[in-house]
Amino acid sequence: MNKLLIYPALLLASFAFGQTTETPTIIHGIYGSPTPFWDKGYRLDELGVNAIFVRGSSISQPMIDRARAEGLNVYVEFPTLNGKGYVEGHPEAWAINEKGAKVEAAGWFMGVCPTEPGFRSHRQEQLREMLRKYAVDGIWLDYVHWHAQFEEPEPILPETCFCEHCLAAFQSASGIEIPTGATSEKAEWVLSKHDSLWRDWRCAVIADWAKDLKTLLKQERPDALLGLYHCPWADADFEGARRRILGLDYELLKEVVDVFSPMVYHERMGRPAGWVEENIRWFGEKLEVHPGDQLKIWPIVQAYRVLPEEFGLVLKAGLSEASSGVMMFTGDAVAEDEAKVKVMKKVYGALDGK
Ligand SMILES: [Zn+2]
Repeated sequence: MNKLLIYPALLLASFAFGQTTETPTIIHGIYGSPTPFWDKGYRLDELGVNAIFVRGSSISQPMIDRARAEGLNVYVEFPTLNGKGYVEGHPEAWAINEKGAKVEAAGWFMGVCPTEPGFRSHRQEQLREMLRKYAVDGIWLDYVHWHAQFEEPEPILPETCFCEHCLAAFQSASGIEIPTGATSEKAEWVLSKHDSLWRDWRCAVIADWAKDLKTLLKQERPDALLGLYHCPWADADFEGARRRILGLDYELLKEVVDVFSPMVYHERMGRPAGWVEENIRWFGEKLEVHPGDQLKIWPIVQAYRVLPEEFGLVLKAGLSEASSGVMMFTGDAVAEDEAKVKVMKKVYGALDGK
């Protein structure tokens, strides 16, 4: 890389500091740190990439500066309701199951009680701090759901959360008085007598999280986008578990979110590559989104543990139907495999001006 060429571009980038940049018509993204590409001597714009989606833990000003110099939009993932590393020291935020016991981790994931006020303030503070520090083009909320695991072929779908905060909040929102008794008895009463109200309330809690974080985002960075990484299951999958257990109600969320990023990890979820396009078609129809609409769909497809040809298929599928952008999980899996880099470059180059 010629340093003399980079220098003026970095100067230009520094003028843009503090501002968000315009959103490209079609997003050709990578998810994860761009560093593995840079370490191999690539410029991302030369690979057809125009946006990076970086984990909050790995963002830095030099990374943003270089990304800007390559003409990239910068979006940051925000791990919202992942309680790992928090609940251990704050047992009051530990999610409680229908037996009245603390939940066990769901695979590698440990959810948190979404109504516990201390945790909410903690996350809001973290987001505010990050937004004040870095001029990013958007925040992508991740893990916005009740405690569960949906990213594997055999999902873990527990009933939560029956902690005192949740039961009191449900009681006050619904106007229903829960009889006294052990937590397990209260849970059984709620699930047997008011299942539907309980599910609706849980969805409202999740949508409120998105709403509150959007308010905060707009206070700090009015032009930045709010994205959502989410479970891509159709309504009937796993007996309606997307809404019933995870608490994701698209009708509520579409009022808040600017961009939906369904996590269509076909191989990880035990589905064929063709499912990606089917799912995006279903989702576009469900949301009534069309390319050019203000509400966007930018899926995230699977790049690791799949062959380059298959990665090419799902990357293209990720740009089909109502989608106006795509990214892959993860950029690292592409950077380390020359054949996947070629596939990405071809798909991103060929689709210019879609
Ligand atoms: Zn709770």
